[in-house]
Amino acid sequence: MAVRFPLYVKSLYESAERVPQPQAQAIDVVVRSRLDGAMASPFTADSPLASSVMASPNLDERCAPVELIVLHYTGMPEEDAALARLCDAEAKVSSHYVVRESGEVVQLVAEEKRAWHAGVSCWRGASDINSRSIGIEIVNPGHNGDCPPYPDPQIAAVVALCRDILARNGLRRDQVLAHSDIAPTRKQDPGEWFPWGRLAAEGVGLWVEPAPLDDAPGAEADAGEAAAFIGALAGYGYGITPADPPEVKAAVVAAFQRHFRPARVDGKVDRSSIETLRRLLAAR
Ligand SMILES: [Zn+2]
Repeated sequence: MAVRFPLYVKSLYESAERVPQPQAQAIDVVVRSRLDGAMASPFTADSPLASSVMASPNLDERCAPVELIVLHYTGMPEEDAALARLCDAEAKVSSHYVVRESGEVVQLVAEEKRAWHAGVSCWRGASDINSRSIGIEIVNPGHNGDCPPYPDPQIAAVVALCRDILARNGLRRDQVLAHSDIAPTRKQDPGEWFPWGRLAAEGVGLWVEPAPLDDAPGAEADAGEAAAFIGALAGYGYGITPADPPEVKAAVVAAFQRHFRPARVDGKVDRSSIETLRRLLAAR
């Protein structure tokens, strides 16, 4: 995909450390639109951690208050191409923030607006997650790019940005989710190698030590245990019911494992997954 920037935006700060006070967010954003049709409106960065604003036209109005942060990977090999796509009116996708591999944070959509990152999704019985969330795209090629590790400066920036958003929006740590949590049959991002434990150590996301795998003969969960596990996943927030077909249940079990028990992501209910979810529910 050719790199094409629909917008030119003046860099706002060279680094977050140069932002001494919240009033420093009063920012001049220079926008020269090359979009065909849709115009992106300039706005003031919500987070002092955003070093630049690149206004995306892909947004509309929220229909519900913010109650979640949703983390994604971009899933593209080239980070400028990913940014360009998120600002391309024809692509009809966006996020509130992009965190580059360097740790630089770019804001694309004002937090008060509804960005288009979640798609068809569900959490705790609610749909329209775009209305209810702030989306962060983390630059990483993803599963199709051999799952490269997230660089340390990038994760440090994700942690700082999430802490800032949680604090400003009055959200709890467990209100930080993976795209795969809210759309398990469609999405796998930010992937089973995403360092959720490191985030949790700094107050972002809920995490418990996963129970070890148990492959001993006879250690498989029986049908009753598997049914109870599906019910407990729904209790945690996953969009799953006892009436869903086996392939949907397997996708939701895999999404749970991808986030909370990444040692094996196979969609099968096992005792390690059951015990990990029990610990998670007790920790919330
Ligand atoms: Zn995603």
